[in-house]
Amino acid sequence: MTHSSAVTRASGHADERSLSDGVRRVRQSRLSRVRMVALDLDGTLVDQEGAARRWATEFIRSRGLTADVAAVALALTQRRPKGEVFNELVRTHDLGLDPDEVWANYRQRMPELVTCTDADREALVALRATGWRVGIVTNGMVDNQEGKIRQLGLDSLVDAWVISEEVGIRKPSPGIFHALAARLECPLDGWMIGDSLELDVVGGAGVGLRTALISGAEPTQDAAHADLLVASVAEAAAAIMSEATSPKTP
Ligand SMILES: [Mg+2]
Repeated sequence: MTHSSAVTRASGHADERSLSDGVRRVRQSRLSRVRMVALDLDGTLVDQEGAARRWATEFIRSRGLTADVAAVALALTQRRPKGEVFNELVRTHDLGLDPDEVWANYRQRMPELVTCTDADREALVALRATGWRVGIVTNGMVDNQEGKIRQLGLDSLVDAWVISEEVGIRKPSPGIFHALAARLECPLDGWMIGDSLELDVVGGAGVGLRTALISGAEPTQDAAHADLLVASVAEAAAAIMSEATSPKTP
């Protein structure tokens, strides 16, 4: 009897142990099911290039310059320190202006000039509705980048965002992706969607995210480095959502 009770007790403990292990496993699997979709901002969610062209057009007209809009817009979309670009703009055209003021004007105006497609907005809504945590991770200055996010209403369509200036870390450094995961309150697991091979694809893959590269007019060999090659956020989101419901993922 004693023996039997001991066995019962032992097996009871074993049951409790396996129950608590089971609860832990369920909790862990629930946690691990929370996954993120991180998105770049410029050239991915917003048409930074078109907005830069519109800003250049306005600026050149308002100053009565003979500068080439395309050349100015190109300088503004290249991956160069913006301070250097505005110094060059002011010096080349002998504007007699403070480059920092021109730059500040640019950052103030850009949020009013960028656009985001309805299809991409709907994709963000669909991703969140299907359980993904959605966040923006962008290099840039807070006034400019947050201005774009708020002006376009993206602040209500994503769960969080991280801007390099505020955290002092730029893509492709791992720290900025970790900062986004922390704000999203989910593991650094899921996808990174962006238009830069170096910043978004290499950066995202470096922290274990799968990657979708928004390709330009001419797809390049860059495509080989990304898990998906897409034309838009909407296309990436559709593929990600279908991937999540299919047994394709190992
Ligand atoms: Mg970009």
